[in-house]
Amino acid sequence: MATERFDTDVCVVGAGPAGLVLALLLLKSGVRVTVVERDRAHRREFRGEILQPGAMALLDRLGVLAGARARGAHEHARFRLVENERVLLDIDYRALPAPHNHLLSVPQAHVLDELLLHCQKFEEFRHLDGRRAGGLLRDGDRVAGIAADGPSGPCEVTARVVVGADGRFSKVRRLAGIEAGRTEAFDLDVLWFKVPAPRGGAAPGAVRDVRVFRAGDSPVLAYESWPDRVQIGWTLPHGGYRDVAAEGIGPVRERLARAVPPHADAIMEHVTSLRDLTLLDVFSGRAHRWADDGLVLIGDAAHTHSPIGAQGINLAVQDAVVLHPLLVESLATGDASAASLGRFERLRAPDIAAVMRTQTLQSKAMLSTGALATRVRPALAGVLRHTPLYPKVLRRIAYGNPAIRIAEECFV
Ligand SMILES: Cc1cc2nc3c(=O)[nH]c(=O)nc-3n(C[C@H](O)[C@H](O)[C@H](O)COP(=O)(O)OP(=O)(O)OC[C@H]3O[C@@H](n4cnc5c(N)ncnc54)[C@H](O)[C@@H]3O)c2cc1C
Repeated sequence: MATERFDTDVCVVGAGPAGLVLALLLLKSGVRVTVVERDRAHRREFRGEILQPGAMALLDRLGVLAGARARGAHEHARFRLVENERVLLDIDYRALPAPHNHLLSVPQAHVLDELLLHCQKFEEFRHLDGRRAGGLLRDGDRVAGIAADGPSGPCEVTARVVVGADGRFSKVRRLAGIEAGRTEAFDLDVLWFKVPAPRGGAAPGAVRDVRVFRAGDSPVLAYESWPDRVQIGWTLPHGGYRDVAAEGIGPVRERLARAVPPHADAIMEHVTSLRDLTLLDVFSGRAHRWADDGLVLIGDAAHTHSPIGAQGINLAVQDAVVLHPLLVESLATGDASAASLGRFERLRAPDIAAVMRTQTLQSKAMLSTGALATRVRPALAGVLRHTPLYPKVLRRIAYGNPAIRIAEECFV
């Protein structure tokens, strides 16, 4: 099959939240954008789906949030840590300013489809889906485009800048020879599955919560997922799945049902095989550098996070917003060198480090299973609610860096 050739200003690899938000911002700024995505449709079941207020506010400003919500979403008012029916920690998002004073569980496909719809309004947009980027084109040492392959044949996209927004196992990062900087800071894995919500979900107007249930040695996360399911994440010690699998589905199901009493019946009925559970290898990472000449990494490709505290989408969206004016400037001045694109890492790295610190604290506070932690946690959780630290932690989790704003002055 003949190689198709395309030319663009910016080639974004990966149509996840980072890639599509960046594409839309650049299109609004008069930049030609080609997005290369290996999937044909965003239908993968286990994508993160809890949006924090920070990402919601930016998506709202972009005119994307209302459409994503209209496709179906649930609001959650609180994040609660529950132990033997006692509420240890109660983070109430309703204390934040409206309208983004809740968590939103929205299938990622709803957000991505809406973003795509907005991008497709621009003539300068090209969406090459079903194409997997597999090579970097170079002009001397400078990255000058990508080569991709898929059922519709091979293609090459030449670009003034390539953006690697291709997720935590980024191919672009690997092709550029950049180390992922993976660390096992969290010492846990998560088994994910969904079961039907009790009686088809909460009554209209009822307050929904995202909850971590602590019982025994494996905390379990649960929240209602649109339209009528409960998403459950069972945390296990890192690498502990083999022992669990050896027990077989019967004992596993009983442990789960004991840990999450409100969903015990659904678990006993619907979790019938280990194949109903999906293992997520939890790790965090920070790529050794985020830019080369002609190349920049964003979102999970640049920094990967544990699912604790639902930060990945927030950070991906904010990355795109921070990179946008820098890229517009690089294109205008014709300077897409590593030094110029590297300004993104210098601006963003302190925010990423702060979120990683908060996640490590959250992980220790909620998930640690040692005898001392178990004895001390209830007292600490009770005190935290009444200290000045509480609103600070809430704002950090909800917004990341609240100063991040869309550079609308770049729009044409
Ligand atoms: C099980 C799970 C639960 C999570 N829960 C949450 C949550 O509740 N809230 C939250 O905020 N975060 C959550 N996260 C994290 C969140 O999903 C990510 O941080 C976020 O999606 C990162 O966005 P991104 O655009 O950088 O990358 P991704 O969303 O990973 O998108 C990367 C895109 O690149 C494409 N791609 C990859 N390789 C290639 C290639 N070679 N060529 C072309 N395309 C390619 C992929 O198909 C994908 O569409 C969760 C993650 C997991 C795994």
